[in-house]
Amino acid sequence: MYKQVIGCRKCPRLVDFRENVKITPRFDGEKFWRKPVPGYGDTKGHLMIVGLAPAASGGNRTGRIFTGDKSAEYLVSALYEAGLCSQATSTSRNDGLRYIDSYITAAVKCAPPDNKPTREEQLNCLVYLDAEFLCNDDLNCILALGHFAFRSILDRFKFAGFETKGMKFKNGAYCEIPGIRIYTSYHPTPRNVNTGRLKRMEFVGMLKEIRKYMGQ
Ligand code: SF4
Repeated sequence: MYKQVIGCRKCPRLVDFRENVKITPRFDGEKFWRKPVPGYGDTKGHLMIVGLAPAASGGNRTGRIFTGDKSAEYLVSALYEAGLCSQATSTSRNDGLRYIDSYITAAVKCAPPDNKPTREEQLNCLVYLDAEFLCNDDLNCILALGHFAFRSILDRFKFAGFETKGMKFKNGAYCEIPGIRIYTSYHPTPRNVNTGRLKRMEFVGMLKEIRKYMGQ
């Protein structure tokens, strides 16, 4: 599936954005990835973490999801504190970061302008999220980072024939489908972090609860 994902050109607007987004002076001279960014981690893990999409200068630059941007900084240090990854930083594809009993991905695999994929783009990319669910067959837990990721997860289960009616996003809460608990949190965007909407202590607390539930 990796080759299929990184070669995908199904969404013209996102293909144009990922390939042509301007390099900010901070990353001048760096070669950007500029392709779709697949998920990675332990495909036999109990947890799947789902974000929105790669950031223009994060995953779209480094070629690895939640790598090299502010959201990654916050998320990975919190996951490390909860014992769900091997180090507190995520800076490049070769930095040695490993996810423990868990796999990480995004609902949409290409960086979108203003971090806002359209509904059509979200549905186009669902096929890859579905394939990731099918490959990760020991899952008992999902962490949805933000409303958008939550919607893709519900779409995926709905299309797979599960009942999702009445399931709502609520920060720090969870809902369940048979055999899988879906935790929901605000996305660790700089805005959510800086405004205090997402509170580190609560977020890490939820990650620790998830780890317990996974059976770690
Ligand atoms: S967002 Fe998904 S479906 Fe659209 S071009 Fe990228 S990989 Fe393909």
